[in-house]
Amino acid sequence: MKGNKISTKRTIKYSTSVCPVCLKTVKARIIEDKDIVLVKSCEEHGDFRFVLSSDPEFYKSLYGSFSRLVKASKRKINQYYMFLTMRCNMRCPICYVDAGNKPIEDPSTEHVIQSANKLKDKHVSLMGGEPTMREDIHKIVRALRKNDNVVSVYTNGLKISDIEYLKGLITSGVNDIRLQFDGFNDETYKILRGMKLVEAKKKILSNLAMLNVPTVLEHVVARDLNEKGMLDTLEYAAGHKNIKGIGFNSYRNYGRASLGHERSVQNNEMVSFLAKHTSKNLPALATIRDDVLAFNKILYFLNNIGLIPIRSCFNHIYFALFRKNNRLDGLSSYINVGKIIKLIDNYQVSGKGKLSIMLELSGLLKHALSPEILKLMLLGRINEANLNDILIAQFVSPCDKYTYVGESAKYCFGQEIHPGEKGKEISQASGIKNIERESNH
Ligand SMILES: [Zn+2]
Repeated sequence: MKGNKISTKRTIKYSTSVCPVCLKTVKARIIEDKDIVLVKSCEEHGDFRFVLSSDPEFYKSLYGSFSRLVKASKRKINQYYMFLTMRCNMRCPICYVDAGNKPIEDPSTEHVIQSANKLKDKHVSLMGGEPTMREDIHKIVRALRKNDNVVSVYTNGLKISDIEYLKGLITSGVNDIRLQFDGFNDETYKILRGMKLVEAKKKILSNLAMLNVPTVLEHVVARDLNEKGMLDTLEYAAGHKNIKGIGFNSYRNYGRASLGHERSVQNNEMVSFLAKHTSKNLPALATIRDDVLAFNKILYFLNNIGLIPIRSCFNHIYFALFRKNNRLDGLSSYINVGKIIKLIDNYQVSGKGKLSIMLELSGLLKHALSPEILKLMLLGRINEANLNDILIAQFVSPCDKYTYVGESAKYCFGQEIHPGEKGKEISQASGIKNIERESNH
């Protein structure tokens, strides 16, 4: 390691990562500088630094609770992502699986149903490409539902702009729709999706609202492009009860995406952006930073005492919003957030104080957010959780070859299913997969 210049900085943690050029595994450190930075060096390609968080206090506070409270044995929530096709009716310039470019044959109905029959009582997301490109999607959904799986469909929504098609999907048993949605600005869509889409998205949203379909909006956020889109999306969610969740996902330089790593945003940056933009309908944003800290610490604490499982990866942080008269309130409207943070921080050091925390949380847990509801929500069973007035937002900075931290990745929650593909029928998902995929080049 050539980096004497960094050795005086405070090391938070030693781990491994990959060289962003050759993708070889390299030693890495997370240090506190002005920012929280991942420092690594490759013998061949030199030293690298990537910012993990521009808010060290926020990062250390959350990471401290996460690493002390979330038990490895209770970390796992296996979510299954079933890839049905690489075909797509769009050609998004940022597609992370590079869908639609090469003629890749779909897995056969028989293979997909065989895979489906092996899953019981799981949360299964149908993915692609665009899963609605398959004529047999209804049959696949019915096979999964027969074994009590919860089925989500990830879609760009073009097909469900036909309300009859949407009705058919719901009748076959789909539990919720995960709609790709990047806000209400056509300039953004032209860059991220290659075409104007605002009118189409409005029609799709109106169909979903009309049929009261539980919906999660999957929103890509790119730096200096559509941060403001987060506000428009929250405003829309404030007024529509069928919106049960929002995933604010940082842009990533995966697949054919080529806007550059500079467009990636860290989850604390999304939180900071929102903190500066309260509005009449979004009073929750005034206290968002502390609310996010408190809410995630509450989840880690409830996991620690065995009440809920938790998504294992630190790249996802959550934000609870409470819908009331077309506006969204935050946690601070219900509990003393500063006090809870203090109680949980003390608990993580001494292991004592469980009762005072439970007492402080009792009002919240009894009504708005019982552990049972939290558990269903974290398992993706948003419909059963009957979250009538609750909306859960997530801020996600997926790992990639720049920010990948080996130690966190070993707890990755996701499992991919590629029906009919020998040897990788079920394999580990998401960021790790992308890194591995690239490193095989
Ligand atoms: Zn290298």
